Amino acid sequence: MSEPTDKGLQWLKSIGINNSTSYWNLTPAQLTEATLRLKQGVLTDTKALAIDTGEFTGRSPKDKFIVLDEKSKDTIWWGDVNYKFDSDKFEPLYNKVVAYLSNREIYVRDNFACADVNFRLSIRVVTELPWSNLFANNLFIRPSSDELKLFIPEWTIINAPGFKSEGAADGTRQHNFTILDLSRKIILIGGSGYTGEIKKSIFTLLNYILPHEKGVLSMHCSANVGKKGDTAIFFGLSGTGKTTLSADPNRGLIGDDEHGWADKTIFNFEGGCYAKCVNLSAEKEPEIYKAIKAGALLENVRFLPGTKKVNYDDISVTENTRVGYPLDFIENAVEPSVGSIPKNIFFLTCDAFGVLPPISKLTTGQAMYHFISGYTAKVAGTEMGVTEPTLTFSACFGKAFLPLHPTRYAELLGKKLKENNVNVWLVNTGWTEGEYGVGHRIKLSNTRALITAALNGVLDNVKFDTLPIFNLSMPTTCPGVVGDILNPRNTWGNKDAYDVKANELAKSFVKNFELFSKAANEEILAAAPKVVVSA
Ligand code: ATP
Ligand code: MN
Repeated sequence: MSEPTDKGLQWLKSIGINNSTSYWNLTPAQLTEATLRLKQGVLTDTKALAIDTGEFTGRSPKDKFIVLDEKSKDTIWWGDVNYKFDSDKFEPLYNKVVAYLSNREIYVRDNFACADVNFRLSIRVVTELPWSNLFANNLFIRPSSDELKLFIPEWTIINAPGFKSEGAADGTRQHNFTILDLSRKIILIGGSGYTGEIKKSIFTLLNYILPHEKGVLSMHCSANVGKKGDTAIFFGLSGTGKTTLSADPNRGLIGDDEHGWADKTIFNFEGGCYAKCVNLSAEKEPEIYKAIKAGALLENVRFLPGTKKVNYDDISVTENTRVGYPLDFIENAVEPSVGSIPKNIFFLTCDAFGVLPPISKLTTGQAMYHFISGYTAKVAGTEMGVTEPTLTFSACFGKAFLPLHPTRYAELLGKKLKENNVNVWLVNTGWTEGEYGVGHRIKLSNTRALITAALNGVLDNVKFDTLPIFNLSMPTTCPGVVGDILNPRNTWGNKDAYDVKANELAKSFVKNFELFSKAANEEILAAAPKVVVSA
């Protein structure tokens, strides 16, 4: 389908878009073609489409708003994650955006979110640019042609990167914005072409609807499944390894970033992957490398001189180079992307202090403590303005996307952990042999070996030691791991320096947890690191 139907035109009119030339549900090939025609992209040697997202190469968290109204007023966790948008200002700004899109070429696409049909959301995406539309096609769930015929849009995303708001006069902070209106069921994105805004706005929405209205735990995690049907999920903030570590040739991929945990299933919200490309190589990440073919959308990459071969080491535009592709571009993706209740949960943290062990096994109390804490280092790239690793605590490993108070999600997880027999592991994919600047990032092959050993039950039969201060139970041996890296203290040349750093990190944990201590029970509080008070 590409020509608008009468119903389609009527719908556009009903949302305020008039006299546009609209292309409906174009195929990836047609969207690629349209992008090339508009000279907004180039074809790489593997026939993937490469575009530049423009001024924004990462999300802009300070410009994400939720409309303040009866529905949101007492349910949203207002503050520096969820900024209020004045209800009176929404309509005028909305009208400006649809006026901007009127009389233009626009691209409309119908998609679903949530692979478990019981929770399915119908989303109609209207984009100014063809490649933003391709992104929506790749990342959301694609309806079958029969489903397309019966499609009734519930939510609408309007995406206009070329529209710039006037800041305060329009109720925005600056010229770009992502605004969720929960009552009108509209997501309005303007001023930024960064595609991640599209997917993460739906994630934010599902983080509201699922826990609040359906009792389902929504999670910032990847998921895969073993040959015996055992599901594993990997929580983690941006850059900690969700996408990389879930792409495993021996396991079926359920999804790479956003999932729900219902009574009997784990299900993907999305229908695609959004992988980082920095330093990508066929040797280290073969599944992702092979997925970069016709239909895939590369963002902000550069080529080897005189060729159309991508130079993945070139991060002159941004560290946050990305590729978006449909899930089935990964050979062993499972369809539908649904799994059983997880047997193993991994909390991925990229510890730039080099203090935490490469892997440790958590008690339920510790699992809750670390989930609520959400410690990691923000690495350069995904958010605008972050240029070197900075310590951060991001509740539930996804604070930026939580419209409800973090304890809402923590309570749901706590209940699930109590009801099911799940192993929870804390995995440091960050620094070893010293902190950032001194040591280096743990080798990907070592992290993979540790995760494989945990998944295969090999770690059930090895001796564990306890890491002081953090009280973390870490294995003393693991097949396939190269070097004496399992106890982080052993890897540091200067043990005193390690102890000082460990204590410093423990203090940060304790300070951060003050925000949540009221909502935590004794079991959770007992899992806090024990700061050593010097004489
Ligand atoms: P986002 O939420 O932004 O999508 P993500 O958690 O999916 O982030 P990845 O895309 O998996 O993060 O990024 C992890 C990056 O870190 C990759 O570029 C990977 O090659 C690199 N890396 C280096 N060492 C490791 C390691 N030991 N474990 C995991 N990833 C590593
Ligand atoms: Mn990812």
